[in-house]
Amino acid sequence: MRELIKSLSKLKLNYELGKKTWFGTGGSTTLFLEVHSKSSLKKIIKLLPYNFPIFIVGAGSNLIVRDGGFKGLTLKLTDEFKNIDFNKQNKVLKIGGGLKDHIISNFCYKNSIGNFEFLRGIPGTLGGNIKMNAGCFGKTISDDLIKCRILNRKGEELCLDKRDINFSYRRSDIPDNSIILDAEFSVKLSSKKHILEKTNKIVKTRTKSQPIKNRTGGSTFKNPLNVSAWKLIDKINYRGKKIGDASVSTKHTNFLINNSNANSLDLEILGEEIKESVKKKFNINLDWELKRIGEFKKI
Ligand SMILES: Cc1cc2nc3c(=O)[nH]c(=O)nc-3n(C[C@H](O)[C@H](O)[C@H](O)COP(=O)(O)OP(=O)(O)OC[C@H]3O[C@@H](n4cnc5c(N)ncnc54)[C@H](O)[C@@H]3O)c2cc1C
Repeated sequence: MRELIKSLSKLKLNYELGKKTWFGTGGSTTLFLEVHSKSSLKKIIKLLPYNFPIFIVGAGSNLIVRDGGFKGLTLKLTDEFKNIDFNKQNKVLKIGGGLKDHIISNFCYKNSIGNFEFLRGIPGTLGGNIKMNAGCFGKTISDDLIKCRILNRKGEELCLDKRDINFSYRRSDIPDNSIILDAEFSVKLSSKKHILEKTNKIVKTRTKSQPIKNRTGGSTFKNPLNVSAWKLIDKINYRGKKIGDASVSTKHTNFLINNSNANSLDLEILGEEIKESVKKKFNINLDWELKRIGEFKKI
């Protein structure tokens, strides 16, 4: 109980969630809470009326929070959810849902674990990765997944085997109101030299091809079958196109950028314009990869 009271005492009202995302745009969440342990998370979820909206934020690297904000409780996993443990005997890696990708990647390097180099280029958290089935350079987070523990909206903890989850390109069917607590992966050992070579190559390629120093949200759209979204966007001449202070990156046309004072509506209108033009010119429906939450601001 003491733990729960301690957690709730840190509840923040009208927290500027949008400003904490990679884009740095958008409104506030009515309530925001950093949760430190599984036991207090369970109690909080059980305390909340079942219909009270919740959102789980990771690193906010694939997220647009609309300018009117999110009316509900946003939860962020910290402390206990940032654990990482390698069982050398079974070659199983257990990772907490709140742990950031670059920390996972560093841990893997130190322990000669070879199948997570790709995370070096993704600025999310384990929970966000699983929800989005994140991946790059031919690997996705679900490839070596064994099982994943989630907390559903009723406060029940479920252990899902990989085969219980439907993973597809940048998607898993884990419900939006379930919380990914941790996951276990099978490990392939490798040499530090080889891991370093791979991660260095990834960093080099990304620095060259993506606007990673800008306020962005990664890929805006999923790649349609057999064609890259960026090529379609290039062909409709949207490279560098601006709306307000939002623009299409000149380095990678599937990335939107907040140049400094954009709002979420600028970003979303730019995205919708792209969708419309691509549909008109190529009869292809672009599907948003970015998650968009909250309400539009009333004018
Ligand atoms: C520069 C840049 C490069 C990128 N490159 C890539 C890339 O190569 N490949 C790729 O796949 N993605 C890429 N991304 C997108 C993004 O990093 C990934 O989608 C990442 O997995 C999102 O993780 P996050 O923690 O930031 O999630 P958030 O953006 O915070 O949230 C995304 C979704 O995950 C959910 N979520 C987060 N944590 C949890 C949890 N614990 N439990 C349940 N749901 C949760 C949220 O509710 C939301 O629905 C890139 C982004 C940027 C900014």
